[in-house]
Amino acid sequence: MASDVCCLAEARRVAIFGGTHGNEMSGVMLVAMWTKDDSEIRRRRVHTEPFMSNPRAAQKCTRYIDTDLNRAFTAENLSTPGGDELPYEVQRAKEINQIFGPKGSPDAYDVIFDLHNTTSNMGSTLILESSTDHFNLQMVHYIKKAMAPESCMVLLNEHPQLKYATTRSVAKHPVGLEVGPQPQGVLRSNIFKSMRMIVKHALDFIEMFNSGVEFPACRVEVFRVHERLDYPRDTNGNISAMVHPHLQDCDWEPLNPGDPMFQTFDGRTIAYEGDGPVYPTFINEAAYYEKHQAFVTTLRETLAVNSIRKTNTK
Ligand SMILES: [Zn+2]
Repeated sequence: MASDVCCLAEARRVAIFGGTHGNEMSGVMLVAMWTKDDSEIRRRRVHTEPFMSNPRAAQKCTRYIDTDLNRAFTAENLSTPGGDELPYEVQRAKEINQIFGPKGSPDAYDVIFDLHNTTSNMGSTLILESSTDHFNLQMVHYIKKAMAPESCMVLLNEHPQLKYATTRSVAKHPVGLEVGPQPQGVLRSNIFKSMRMIVKHALDFIEMFNSGVEFPACRVEVFRVHERLDYPRDTNGNISAMVHPHLQDCDWEPLNPGDPMFQTFDGRTIAYEGDGPVYPTFINEAAYYEKHQAFVTTLRETLAVNSIRKTNTK
């Protein structure tokens, strides 16, 4: 129905962030490359800005200096006065918010792509923060089609407790790219190539949208963040079991009640106890040991996406 078409403003200002986590090498290297020569990310109707979001962490090849930048974009941090005495990433969050935001304001950038790597066997994953952002949903639908037969999953995190204040959340349309498996501090050519292709398709989509192409209603499969599971721990808080070999590397595959989940050091199996099948992801992610997370479970669902086109401005 024509009345279902969402008319949206053009997405003129786009940023590509790399190095939000300084040891996730694909984004660090791609942004460094595009900063030297931006010809491959230029489009006629889009201004695209490559940006190293945590340069000190990237320099040291570490996730962060003082605190996780990708959790730092809270209203409290962004409004706090003060300067040099603040944790480095809080200072950086305030700077990024000034350049690309302010977060939640009409002046904010239209789209921020934030490039991440995971040590988990997640393949190519797009992370969205809203199930009602039809611009982003149309974009991920376009990217999934363009990437086929290579798979590209969509992780939706709008969980009231598990959602966090991401770097990309400064933009009107935040999009996370999470590509793996790749160890921290390592570059793998296949992962680099997949990430580069996703960015290409994303920019092509925005260019088409800005040029007036109407994208018809569609459906897109997403995996909605459901719950966070920690490793089993002893009374001192030390890990007492590992991800079970039957679960390791099985990101996005169903985990049913009774399926093996952890294995203790003496070989005992701990099974998943839930109501029904869930789809685990970020399984055994290296960076999440400090966050007390062995994996997240998700629920698979299909979202109906509205038709979109740009608002006519005459
Ligand atoms: Zn990351």
